[in-house]
Amino acid sequence: MPVRCVLLLLGLAAPLPALAAEMPIFDAHVHYSHDAWDNLPPADAVAILRKAGLKRALVSSSGDEGTQRLVALAPELVIPSLRPYRTRGDLSTWARDDTVAAFLGERLRRSRYAAIGEFHLYGADADLPVPKRMVALAKQYGLVLHAHSDVDALERLFRQDPEARILWAHSGFERPDAVREMLRRHKNLWCDLAFRTEHGAGGKVPAEWRALFTEFPDRFMVGTDTFTPERWYYIVEHANWSRVWLADLPPALAERIAWRNADTLFASWKPAVSQ
Ligand SMILES: [Zn+2]
Repeated sequence: MPVRCVLLLLGLAAPLPALAAEMPIFDAHVHYSHDAWDNLPPADAVAILRKAGLKRALVSSSGDEGTQRLVALAPELVIPSLRPYRTRGDLSTWARDDTVAAFLGERLRRSRYAAIGEFHLYGADADLPVPKRMVALAKQYGLVLHAHSDVDALERLFRQDPEARILWAHSGFERPDAVREMLRRHKNLWCDLAFRTEHGAGGKVPAEWRALFTEFPDRFMVGTDTFTPERWYYIVEHANWSRVWLADLPPALAERIAWRNADTLFASWKPAVSQ
């Protein structure tokens, strides 16, 4: 008699859901900025990533130093992305600040990255000289752009570089229909689901999101968005919550959104060989 039947007879079939809970997660939206270090030293931050059962995490930080510290500790786990922010305050001014372009160039010469972002950029600002320079650098170094942007800015980024690969942070906080339209128009657009819950509230995937995930099984990924230091403590919770709603999808699709899509997008990233 198969083991599972024996377990069912004994009323001990519970281990199967527990196995599902082990689904690896690629968290594609983590920040470890300068104001997170004091309360959460790098070793503790890496411990949280491991406790969450993360396969990998796309990490960026205002100041970049936080990202570098995590990469040094866990090169197999942390995929570095370069933020165009030296401090949190750059968030609203960077697109008009010429010194940001120099900062990006200097960092890119010094360290290796898989992406540039997450950056905040809206509408016609995308065509300002600093964002244009950023897009050119992403092209030069073969980096993904992680954009917290509206549709208008995304279209402008793609016009600057039709071959750009863009990860749309929070899926633009757009409704499923608007996300679908963008995904149909741009083959090199991926979406993270960070800091939104309507696609999996109550552990169920609503019909409109299910249809979107089914039409574009290769384009979505999950993320916590630790935009303030205290949100680091949600990383474990977010991974567990993601496993619950993903279990409402067919297993192959769930696995893609959980980690495979992000893993594929960043497949060319190879961690430095540790010394
Ligand atoms: Zn973010």
